[in-house]
Amino acid sequence: MVTPSRFVVQLHDATRLHYDLRILVGDALRSWAVPKGPSMDPAVRRLAVPVEDHELSAGDFEGVHEGSRRGSGVVIIWDEGRAEIRRDDPGHMSVVLHGQKLAGGFGLTRTGERRWVLVKVRDEYALPGSDITAGRPESVRTGRRWEDLVPASGGGRRGDRRPQALEHLGREAR
Ligand code: MN
Repeated sequence: MVTPSRFVVQLHDATRLHYDLRILVGDALRSWAVPKGPSMDPAVRRLAVPVEDHELSAGDFEGVHEGSRRGSGVVIIWDEGRAEIRRDDPGHMSVVLHGQKLAGGFGLTRTGERRWVLVKVRDEYALPGSDITAGRPESVRTGRRWEDLVPASGGGRRGDRRPQALEHLGREAR
């Protein structure tokens, strides 16, 4: 039996930049953190760390999480769309995604303690050799890249500190 559903993938700059894959199951978003993000290449296995279910509203968020202790707190909606859940067994989920970037079948399989793998099914939508996270970095809602949302001051990643430091020096010099 196929269960109609929705999915969202959010790119999140927290302690480490990662992707949050969320699939609507019942009235909650079942969620995995995928450090390297999804791939459309069936040869690529991506680590997916299960995290707690999220409320529906979480999947609608694009912006900056205030008070993020590490990273900029930026979230963009990297992909979203309809989903069809084909199988949902303990330790395995089979789902067909209809996103703007991700399409066709995907498998999520538990391989250990808090360790799952996300793999593209070999079907007509598969793109062997492709790197969709590099090729399509933008938000599907707004076209913005996560870097576009990084606040000009406060927080920020290590790499963003230099412009702030220069700005600070500029103030001192006045
Ligand atoms: Mn996250």
